[in-house]
Amino acid sequence: MDAQLQERITKKIKECLRKGNRLFGSRARLNKFTVSRKLRKWGVAGWNPTDQYYMRVSQEGLQNDPEYVINEVIPHETAHVIAYWLAHNDMEHGDFGHGDGWRTIAKALGSDGSTNGKGEIPRYKYRAQDGEIVNLNRKQHDYLQKEFKVLRSPSGARITAAGYMGENQ
Ligand SMILES: [Zn+2]
Repeated sequence: MDAQLQERITKKIKECLRKGNRLFGSRARLNKFTVSRKLRKWGVAGWNPTDQYYMRVSQEGLQNDPEYVINEVIPHETAHVIAYWLAHNDMEHGDFGHGDGWRTIAKALGSDGSTNGKGEIPRYKYRAQDGEIVNLNRKQHDYLQKEFKVLRSPSGARITAAGYMGENQ
């Protein structure tokens, strides 16, 4: 990951923690942040005995849509860290999942507060008929491969089952 992106992520996490701690009376901090190659989701956060408060974001997700990671995934995951801290300290808005406590915090940090968001990371590579390479999600992939339908790329070119090039690793 390039240094500039790393810096924006670090800054965004700090901003979200500071804001959440101020609004909800927590003193949460992040003990471990990782960019993961293996993660199948956009991000994950919580607490475990080894790492304490941790956050992982998907490297593939970052490559695919860095703005989405910064503007949605990080506020979403930081809200989990704060909600865990509040739960560990028996405070209001404490939440170990996607309940009302977490949602209130997530929205305050700029997340839309939904639990699936953009869904899974698009990992099926296709060549559209104008030659552009696009990544599709599983639902779109199945739609092309099992129903032999046609999709359009952002520039309007046809994408068909025959354009499949393989799964991104
Ligand atoms: Zn979540």
